[in-house]
Amino acid sequence: MVRRLAPRWPVWLFPWRAACTPGAFVQQRTWAGATRTPLWGRLHGVAGVSPLVRRGSSSTSSQAPEVVLTCERYPVRRLPFSTVSEEDLATFERIIPSRVITDPEELEASNVDWLRTMRGCSKVLLKPRTSEEVSHILRYCHERNLAVNTQGGNTGLVGGSVPVFDEIILSTALMNQVVSFQDISGILVCQAGCILEELSRYVEERDFIMPLDLGAKGSCHIGGNLATNAGGLRFLRYGSLHGTVLGLEVVLADGTVLNCLTSLRKDNTGYDLKQLFIGSEGTLGVITAVSILCPPKPRAVNVAFLGCPGFAEVLQTFSTCKRMLGEILSAYEFMDAECMQLVRHHLHLASPVQESPFYVLVETSGSRVEHDAEKLSSFLEHALGSGLVTDGTLATDQGKIKMLWALRERITEALTRDGYVYKYDISLPVDRLYDLVTDLRARLGSQAKHVVGYGHLGDGNLHLNVTAEAFSPSLLGDLEPYVYEWTAGQRGSVSAEHGVGFKKQSVLGYSKPPEALRLMQQLKTLLDPKGILNPYKTLPTQA
Ligand SMILES: Cc1cc2nc3c(=O)[nH]c(=O)nc-3n(C[C@H](O)[C@H](O)[C@H](O)COP(=O)(O)OP(=O)(O)OC[C@H]3O[C@@H](n4cnc5c(N)ncnc54)[C@H](O)[C@@H]3O)c2cc1C
Repeated sequence: MVRRLAPRWPVWLFPWRAACTPGAFVQQRTWAGATRTPLWGRLHGVAGVSPLVRRGSSSTSSQAPEVVLTCERYPVRRLPFSTVSEEDLATFERIIPSRVITDPEELEASNVDWLRTMRGCSKVLLKPRTSEEVSHILRYCHERNLAVNTQGGNTGLVGGSVPVFDEIILSTALMNQVVSFQDISGILVCQAGCILEELSRYVEERDFIMPLDLGAKGSCHIGGNLATNAGGLRFLRYGSLHGTVLGLEVVLADGTVLNCLTSLRKDNTGYDLKQLFIGSEGTLGVITAVSILCPPKPRAVNVAFLGCPGFAEVLQTFSTCKRMLGEILSAYEFMDAECMQLVRHHLHLASPVQESPFYVLVETSGSRVEHDAEKLSSFLEHALGSGLVTDGTLATDQGKIKMLWALRERITEALTRDGYVYKYDISLPVDRLYDLVTDLRARLGSQAKHVVGYGHLGDGNLHLNVTAEAFSPSLLGDLEPYVYEWTAGQRGSVSAEHGVGFKKQSVLGYSKPPEALRLMQQLKTLLDPKGILNPYKTLPTQA
């Protein structure tokens, strides 16, 4: 426990220690001398709330305005696919009895995206349980030229998960079985519809963790995570799914089952086909099962939440972290003061530290409590002593760690309660990461309610979000293509981790050369010649 190291700490660091102590005083003195209530004191009663509050249960959703049909809001034309007939429905009913949903009320949740900015008008939702059923469905749709939109947890943020017109929605919700888990190697094999949080619980009971974690874990599916090549909160430590996924089972557009579900760490037999489907957003095939490598559960986890006086200090604190914490550093996230205002205002979460222009969340994960505590205490002493950090708090127990993470993880949710959200998820050289936020504030002036920046700083990934009372074409015109041109000017990526979906397909050219786009189009034509899988998504219409 950190407490044991107290004698090494100067007197002004005592509040850190108090905050780590189970049953710490409700009121405590900060090193700066002000009185405050610790986060877990003030948040009493919210413990146990899942980080992702589902839209249906949010306090604002009942009064939420109707979402405009995507085909009315955006200039998009329906491609000449067949429309679903009574005969088609009867065929689906034979393939998956009682799992063909046509009730408009039930379809509503699957036609509208998590952000409530896109609405399709699909008339049918299919819920297969096995890859064989998926294969039968796709073979039939391929023959009939019926378009299909695969859907996992529907937490995607770029409009890829919901139909644009009347595409059939193919949900993986009932494909939720764990197939096997190897205790020695930590290799998990499961169906694509398993919810990430449930998988996390499953492997944690066996002393492992999932190599990825994100704010949407309570709803998103592992298949959706792979289809979007989700990054998330553990990327800094465990890297991309391109590295941790060992095998995949995919059903192709014509119903062919491609079984590459190996659990081998090394396999150089020809092209590594699974990589093609990771990040393909349902446009090349339906992922039906996954083999993934899970790291051992760390014995010691600490989270520090720190206030920084400027973005330069956020960057220097990151360099210091890397140097002083080394291999135990597992996450480095940042958020600006406006993000904190939004989580406070909309979600009633309280800041555990004094008001600051920026906040960072540092997580360490290691195998020896004393070793990690010693490293962390040296780092904190240095960061506070040198003025990189002006205030902070530290958590070592699970409940308090979750509460600190909630401040960062629930920003997305707070933003949706603020109005219409224009979302940008970009990769930039880390030293220029915040300049775009500052530029945009000046450019947009009072047109925007909020222009905020937060994200996975350790991965060079900025989440830039602009909120307004309602969707406005003129505000959109001021944002785009400005944001994309700015990003391309820094040789950044216009989609760091959320994917391309419907919303970003026309801007792929800012991050990829024409030759790459042509090759992507050729691969799409090879694997899905009729273009029935997730049409209108990911690739530009004219590549
Ligand atoms: C609060 C919140 C926090 C988030 N945080 C992060 C974050 O930190 N990092 C991050 O990367 N993303 C984040 N996201 C975005 C989102 O959660 C991820 O993109 C997630 O991986 C989507 O999974 P899903 O199961 O919900 O997929 P869906 O939203 O249902 O689908 C996403 C795309 O994948 C396709 N797809 C889904 N399942 C399959 C399948 N089995 N086979 C083929 N294609 C499929 C869909 O057609 C669609 O194009 C966040 C979202 C929210 C709401």
